[in-house]
Amino acid sequence: MAWCLGGFRAPRVSGPPYPRPPRLRVLREADLGKVFISKPALVTSSPRARRLKFRPPPGPGLTGRDRVGTDVAKLATPEVKTKEKADIGDLPGVGPATAEKLREAGYRDLLSIAVAAPGELAEVADLGEAVAMKVINAARQLADVGGFETGDVIMERRAQVGKLTTGSKALDELLGGGVETQSITEFYGEFGSGKTQIMHQLAVNVQRPKDDGGLEGHVVIIDTENTFRPERITQMAEALDLDAKEVLTRIHVARAFNSHHQMLLVEKATELAREYPVRLLVIDSLTAHFRAEYVGRATLANRQGKLNTFMHDCLRFGDLNNAAIAVTNQVHAKPDAFFGDPTRPVGGHVVGHTATFRLYLRKSKGGRRIARLIDSPHLPEGEAVINVIEDGIRD
Ligand code: ADP
Ligand code: MG
Repeated sequence: MAWCLGGFRAPRVSGPPYPRPPRLRVLREADLGKVFISKPALVTSSPRARRLKFRPPPGPGLTGRDRVGTDVAKLATPEVKTKEKADIGDLPGVGPATAEKLREAGYRDLLSIAVAAPGELAEVADLGEAVAMKVINAARQLADVGGFETGDVIMERRAQVGKLTTGSKALDELLGGGVETQSITEFYGEFGSGKTQIMHQLAVNVQRPKDDGGLEGHVVIIDTENTFRPERITQMAEALDLDAKEVLTRIHVARAFNSHHQMLLVEKATELAREYPVRLLVIDSLTAHFRAEYVGRATLANRQGKLNTFMHDCLRFGDLNNAAIAVTNQVHAKPDAFFGDPTRPVGGHVVGHTATFRLYLRKSKGGRRIARLIDSPHLPEGEAVINVIEDGIRD
């Protein structure tokens, strides 16, 4: 089985196997409205367009001009769709080199700069704090920092929220009916606590009909630890009397080799979601790369900034596609905890505040796991006991 560096392994069947579920019209159109304000001039002046322009004329059948025309036109579509890329360079005081540094650091759109802290931006882009502040202010004026929405509009969007079953009734109940779309649900715990098993189960369940607790959709998995196992999917699918081969064709997996790659893959997932009805995004694990790459206190601000950007990209994916986002997280021992359980999830406040639901998984006797709901906007704290068996996640 070959992993493909750039993206997700495409399923073997051609069209989507289910009728495409209705899109979140409001969000899509709103998004498109924003997207299409980009300027064609920026598109043709991108480095790639320039390179294409000076290509030698191709072989017989096509004139050079045709070829150039076609290529630039083809290129225009994706560039137009990611208008944010061009717009960072539009900020006063941001030259090409600074823009590149900002993008490298994960600031890919105006909004991420508009909400950044001056010190953080100064550090990643080698700017003075005063300049950073000026850039941020300019971004605030240019970016759509998000107007206010009335409660009824939010209510309407909430009405679209779907719930995805975990396979365990008790765990679903703890979550208020299942893993919600348009939110991030975080599962954290030690090695072997069952996080990856739950991700596999969700990847199978999301494909099921709504009456069976599914969302009738595809899943995108960003695998950072190389723990995705198709064999395990097969076991879980067969336990539910599903055609395992078909189930596998609706699971799009990409290995993320580092945190930067992991961030790019969310963009790729957005492209994939234009083709398939992706209703679940899995990040297993959310923090492993960030934790390994950013060691020591000096890099902490940088790491947290990127993690924040990443999680907000995930949330945006969830909003646009009415998809659920399930992430796993590791724990570390907190030495200054005097009583209670000294383990804490990695990622500090950034992860804590961005994940809508946090579940702490612990191993218990006889293969059982205890899931504890730590943080939720509208649900009481509580615990559920689940079992990880060959069939998957069960009560
Ligand atoms: P992590 O939290 O580190 O991601 P995993 O989700 O990989 O942990 O959980 C691994 C555990 O799942 C194993 O220790 C085992 O108890 C259980 N498990 C894995 N595969 C199976 C299987 N086929 N049948 C039963 N239990 C399994
Ligand atoms: Mg795991």
